Amino acid sequence: MGEFDLIARYFKHPARRAALGVGDDCALLQARPGTQLAISTDMLVQGRHFFADVDPASLGHKALAVNLSDLAACGAQPLAFTLALALPEANEAWLAAFAQGLLTLADAHDCELIGGDTTGGPLTICITVFGEVPVVAGRSQALLRSGAQPGDDLYVSGTLGDARLALDALQGQLTLPADVLTAARARLERPTPRLALGLALRGIASAAMDVSDGLLGDLGHILQASGVGALVDVDIATTLIANNDYFIRASGQFDAQWLQTTRRTLVLSGGDDYELLFTAPAHLRDAVAAAGRLSQTPVTRIGQIQAQPGLRLVDGAGQALPNHYASFDHFK
Ligand code: ADP
Ligand code: MG
Repeated sequence: MGEFDLIARYFKHPARRAALGVGDDCALLQARPGTQLAISTDMLVQGRHFFADVDPASLGHKALAVNLSDLAACGAQPLAFTLALALPEANEAWLAAFAQGLLTLADAHDCELIGGDTTGGPLTICITVFGEVPVVAGRSQALLRSGAQPGDDLYVSGTLGDARLALDALQGQLTLPADVLTAARARLERPTPRLALGLALRGIASAAMDVSDGLLGDLGHILQASGVGALVDVDIATTLIANNDYFIRASGQFDAQWLQTTRRTLVLSGGDDYELLFTAPAHLRDAVAAAGRLSQTPVTRIGQIQAQPGLRLVDGAGQALPNHYASFDHFK
């Protein structure tokens, strides 16, 4: 199977929204009046972001999900994406499963594959997504990292730490019961981009981003961009691990101190969560709760934005805790 047969078989579909899709030198996408394009690129590299033997359908899902998560963080509606693929070989079974995982998620969000590039090489997947954000009275409705204000509440969606729990187990650093590993692995391999929540938070959230490298490290980006500090309740955040029940059951088995440290580390610096971290004025608490209900996404208030720069951690009793929760950095 040659390069062009491969593209035609797995990645070419009749254009729907795009004025022109796969097949020419450029795709054409008509921007609607009164909107801006939101554009984001994410790359997944074998050995760095996924294991060589990962299920190809899950890989297709995840490659797009991490990009859609960036649109969600900006409050953008997905429109289209491009796919740049480096493949060591044209393995048809692998390609069929990869395309199925990828395009099932794309269809679920009506996000159209409009072009890309295909080459030989070490397995690498690079996706660029295009989304749409309204401009109202000259103001972009995009959610940015830079809008957090002292006094704002700090929230996170969904669950945290389970992806890292799975990664640690798959790398042999800890052993989990099969049911716990299956649940955690679903969070690692099939993250859910919080698109509906991102849309519902337009006009409510003062700042937002998605958590990909770990909660506290990513929070640092909002604090820096907004020129503020924050107080985070570590005990509230720590309950957000989806496998909370497992940790409660495990409390008879393991040293209490070790368990607490492990849970905190997973949640606060785990990474690969693809949840939304956002701030909103305290008087909009009801509106935030309504956005969570509307988008059927759990939302938890984990702290507060403060004028004094820096990140302060407290436990449930209000006792200060040291911050030694580094987030992921490719070059550290
Ligand atoms: P060019 O050489 O002009 O860049 P290519 O020969 O690489 O074009 O690609 C031919 C067409 O197939 C283009 O429309 C391109 O966008 C599309 N394409 C290539 N690879 C992919 C892919 N992995 N997924 C979707 N479309 C692709
Ligand atoms: Mg090309």
